Amino acid sequence: MSQLFDLPACPVLAMAGTELRFPVGRIFCVGQNYAAHAREMGFEPQRDAPIFFTKSPAAVCHSGSTIAYPPGTANCHFEVELVVAIGAPAFRIAAADALSLVAGYGVGIDLTRRDLQNAARGQGHPWDTGKDFENAAVLAPLTPATSFGVPAAQRISLTQNGETRQDADLAQLIWSIPELIAELSKLYHLAPGDLIFTGTPAGVGPVAPSDRLVGRIDGLADLTLAIGEPE
Ligand code: MN
Repeated sequence: MSQLFDLPACPVLAMAGTELRFPVGRIFCVGQNYAAHAREMGFEPQRDAPIFFTKSPAAVCHSGSTIAYPPGTANCHFEVELVVAIGAPAFRIAAADALSLVAGYGVGIDLTRRDLQNAARGQGHPWDTGKDFENAAVLAPLTPATSFGVPAAQRISLTQNGETRQDADLAQLIWSIPELIAELSKLYHLAPGDLIFTGTPAGVGPVAPSDRLVGRIDGLADLTLAIGEPE
């Protein structure tokens, strides 16, 4: 028996300041988790249940990359987000215990083909082509949770060619990090390698060829991304 072909190895993230590496398994994402962003998308913020969606590991793009402007869109948006990296298994964990699962934190950009997402939403169709595409999960090196501490009121921001577009703090999350982990663990058996993009603050906007984006969260390694011409 021989396998027809080999698949690429899973993406691996550096852990800043250590020799450790974090292999990426699943990627979960949260929608509308800052009130001002929910409103700019045309929705009232709600606490009924978190809005979860996923990206595949094939969407991972490392900080420092230059990517082609994504195909199939004329309105690709940046969304800077805190990313939580899960380092231990859990199912139906209580929020009070949830931070014990976190191996590290990082800055991410949830690149979004907004035109495709909005068209899908309008027709009641899945968001996948708007959210899960190559280079759509941009990730900076992680910082170990023991170095970062507890997500609280750290500033989260994004600049586009030096202009500040997003500027908020983590205390404004509608669903806190422990709450998100607890809710997600009701739906999935969380496992080491899982990442959670925890939602973006207000100020999202379109990227263009030659843009340079910098995402920052106090206490974490910066994320940089350059946009090139379309392929
Ligand atoms: Mn997002």
